[in-house]
Amino acid sequence: MSLIDRVKERKQDLIRRHARADDVKGLTQVLITLASLALLWWAALSSAHVSYWLTVGAVLLAVVLDKTAQVVPSYLRDHLVRRQELIASITSENGTFGDTRSSICAVEVAGDRIALDKDATTVSYGEHADAQLVTCRRAPDAAASDQVLVLFRRGDYSLAPTGTWDTLGMRGTCSPGAKFAGRGGVEQIVPGSFADSSAQTMVPYSHILWSALWCGIAADAVARAAQFVRAEARKKPGVVPPQATRLARAHVELQAMRHNWEGCAREFDELGDDRGPLDGMGWALKLNQLKMGCSELAPRIVHEALQIIGILAYKNDSKFSVGRHYRDVLSASLMVSNERISGKSASMLLVFKDD
Ligand SMILES: Cc1cc2nc3c(=O)[nH]c(=O)nc-3n(C[C@H](O)[C@H](O)[C@H](O)COP(=O)(O)OP(=O)(O)OC[C@H]3O[C@@H](n4cnc5c(N)ncnc54)[C@H](O)[C@@H]3O)c2cc1C
Repeated sequence: MSLIDRVKERKQDLIRRHARADDVKGLTQVLITLASLALLWWAALSSAHVSYWLTVGAVLLAVVLDKTAQVVPSYLRDHLVRRQELIASITSENGTFGDTRSSICAVEVAGDRIALDKDATTVSYGEHADAQLVTCRRAPDAAASDQVLVLFRRGDYSLAPTGTWDTLGMRGTCSPGAKFAGRGGVEQIVPGSFADSSAQTMVPYSHILWSALWCGIAADAVARAAQFVRAEARKKPGVVPPQATRLARAHVELQAMRHNWEGCAREFDELGDDRGPLDGMGWALKLNQLKMGCSELAPRIVHEALQIIGILAYKNDSKFSVGRHYRDVLSASLMVSNERISGKSASMLLVFKDD
């Protein structure tokens, strides 16, 4: 069975097992499977945007499932799970400089109606999505960090692009900035705070899924390098090609990366419904370290594959090309800047003791 068929089968199986009317929330407990799918998608499809859709879609799915299951169950069951609709995420905003945990815009409530306007810097597949999940302040007089999530379905909002998306990689995500304007009912405000959703769902899911995805990119580059080295070995039987030792080192890094995300995913799944620990500094640091580690290691591994293969990896029209791997994986450290994440970890480490 091909890789793509395996991915499709596992996805269908996931949906079959969890899309029952009373078990929508069960989907949140399958992080290892989702992460494996994210990894496989990239390797299988030569299409970064599909893997990115899956990753971010899964993250947002998890956020919504966690927090709105009581409020809009029919939406979750009938649209998100059964029809596999797509939700875009609008966390970034002009003026917050990449800090997802602060907002300038605020949701305004008048009776049972709401209004929200946001000047977003980056909205992936926003134009194609069936709904938008938007972060904002709870009220016009709320603090920048007192945020909520609001879900708007197509027809409830307009999204006017403010730029283009001509980027080094990840072009398929189609993520230009946009001015968002949404109107709807108060029931569209996700209960609770975004602070909790972020710590308990969005950060764990995104950091683990992204790491699995970057691992998939690195693994595919290493697989090309291995194929190249084996071909070289066949040319001179009995002689180990000089690039083989470099390939062995690349495998060491790849294994470390895979064990890193798999370990975090397993620990997260083992928490089950007990999300309390995720609010603590231990988990925040662990997930920050995962994101920083994998987003920095993956480009190094791809670079290593390029050095092993040489010019055939540099050429775009070669079967050993790692051009797309390179371009896509460079987004990893920027997709929430590692500088910002390490700054937050640094503050926590001043007071956190890992006993
Ligand atoms: C492919 C892709 C798709 C994306 N899709 C979406 C999407 O759908 N929705 C969405 O909301 N966002 C999305 N984003 C995220 C968003 O575009 C940016 O990651 C986010 O806005 C941060 O932007 P920034 O790098 O300008 O900001 P910053 O994080 O402010 O970084 C700007 C510069 O300042 C430095 N810096 C920042 N903070 C610190 C600090 N504390 N200490 C030291 N230096 C610091 C950084 O290193 C960087 O050089 C996507 C990103 C990518 C790459």
